[in-house]
Amino acid sequence: MLSDLYKETILDHNRRPRHYGPLPSANRRAEGANPLCGDRFSIALELVDDRIKAIRFEGSGCAISKASASIMADAVSGRTVEEALALFDRFHAVITGPMDRDVENDGETLGKLEALVGVREFPIRVKCATLPWHTLKAALAGSDRASSE
Ligand code: ZN
Repeated sequence: MLSDLYKETILDHNRRPRHYGPLPSANRRAEGANPLCGDRFSIALELVDDRIKAIRFEGSGCAISKASASIMADAVSGRTVEEALALFDRFHAVITGPMDRDVENDGETLGKLEALVGVREFPIRVKCATLPWHTLKAALAGSDRASSE
């Protein structure tokens, strides 16, 4: 099961999501849905000179998906597109990787995203955790719809 610390972080972000609400200054948007769980989010970005100046999300879903969207928004806010995509690559590799992978080491670069790594024990939940990221990627790519992989 998820460790207590991770569980606390997820519950906290689910209860009080960061970067939640409309973003009137947005110049990129995308919507993503995970039909298996019923998660549905839209992500709005203000992209300035290849940097995510502001990010907000709206929608609803399970605790994992909502916490993941909140933690992701925190993590990519202020970053360049390249940095945000690199962070997703690392997160994706860990969360879909083998269980014996050294999370302690990866955790250093994952920061708060580490709270979601325990989800990899539950394959159906991996889609919940990665949905906000796929939606972000779609928004960055200028497409308005994300698949849940
Ligand atoms: Zn879900």
